[in-house]
Amino acid sequence: MKIHIVGGGPAGLYFAILMKKADPSREIVVFERNAPDATFGWGVVFSDRTLGYLYDSDEATHQGIVDNFQTWDNVDVVHRGEKVSIGGNRFTGIARIRLLNVLQARCAELGVDLRFGVEIGDPAALADADLLVGADGVNSLVRARYAEHFQPSLDSRPNRYIWYGTRRLFHGLTLTFRESDTGVFAAHSYKFSRDCSTFIVECDPETWQRGGFDTRSDEQARAELERVFAADLEGHPLLSNNSKWIQFLLVKNSCWRHENVVLLGDALHTAHFSIGSGTKLALEDAIALATSFEGGAKVEDALVRFESARRPIVEALQEAAQVSMEWFEHARDAMNQSPLELAYALMTRSGRIDHEKLRRRDPNFIANYERGVVGQDYQ
Ligand SMILES: Cc1cc2nc3c(=O)[nH]c(=O)nc-3n(C[C@H](O)[C@H](O)[C@H](O)COP(=O)(O)OP(=O)(O)OC[C@H]3O[C@@H](n4cnc5c(N)ncnc54)[C@H](O)[C@@H]3O)c2cc1C
Repeated sequence: MKIHIVGGGPAGLYFAILMKKADPSREIVVFERNAPDATFGWGVVFSDRTLGYLYDSDEATHQGIVDNFQTWDNVDVVHRGEKVSIGGNRFTGIARIRLLNVLQARCAELGVDLRFGVEIGDPAALADADLLVGADGVNSLVRARYAEHFQPSLDSRPNRYIWYGTRRLFHGLTLTFRESDTGVFAAHSYKFSRDCSTFIVECDPETWQRGGFDTRSDEQARAELERVFAADLEGHPLLSNNSKWIQFLLVKNSCWRHENVVLLGDALHTAHFSIGSGTKLALEDAIALATSFEGGAKVEDALVRFESARRPIVEALQEAAQVSMEWFEHARDAMNQSPLELAYALMTRSGRIDHEKLRRRDPNFIANYERGVVGQDYQ
């Protein structure tokens, strides 16, 4: 079996690993336009459940991740300068580049043909393989090339956001809200290595315009945001890595496959970063697609199996992510809440965690909430 994969991100590399491991006679080529050590992005996060899936699928990759990760168990919400901590939320952070290096090394060990520095211009030229996988990210060319079949819907959302790093270590998934004279800024931050944290800043388009971020240089934008988040950054600068203001692109596809072509990861779907990283979805997609080939299934049958098994899971997650994304788009409406109320609203915003689940995760937090906000005891 010959497999062509466009895109050497988490989805493409992990799918290559699982398919080669299951059957070493498979001829698998990954085409990646960047160099192996291109340092785009900062850290990515996984839940414990995702780590469990990775362990079950390939212990060697799991070990490579465990050797490089940072874990924490709290979500911290900072509002009006006050921090509310909610325990029982175990997550893992790893540098995106370390994760890619782990996956690349495992591909090489298994004999996957990795071709770096190769930009694919016309994916149809690669469709002569038994299977062509479009794992080429949010702006997928494979998706565009076969758009009449995949029928994608691409929804560019109004909020602006930017990925930075910082040496200030946030020991937990920290959601910080700061109001300046131009509007409300939210920062999503977490430690992903011993000396670095991701620091994503998000704001609505009015705040962005009033803050003049459309015309500010990179240095000026960072200086302004360092001022807004001065108390949180504790004197540490924001670090840019080709960081740019972007609008979140919500990707869905009516159809996930066309003949021997299938999409994977961000090319197939996106979910707002406030609910969990696209990397988790990309890796779990790769597991689902590789699983659908088990038992020597034919390509056509495997792709049907993949879509029917994976689509309901992805759609449920996208639904929860939609609610979360819209919450952040209207964050300014929540700023009149107390820190405790805001923390509770954030934890329950997507509907996946309810009051009782939260009580099991952190009884103290719920006791404080019931005393301080509800003013009565729940039984
Ligand atoms: C630059 C960048 C930085 C990011 N930073 C973070 C972060 O800090 N934290 C976080 O949680 N998430 C981050 N993300 C998002 C997250 O990584 C994605 O949700 C996740 O990586 C999805 O995995 P993927 O394999 O589907 O796509 P991607 O990781 O986007 O991988 C797609 C790959 O395809 C390659 N490619 C695209 N078109 C072609 C072509 N025509 N020919 C050859 N190769 C091609 C790209 O170079 C890329 O390596 C980032 C994404 C990008 C692209």
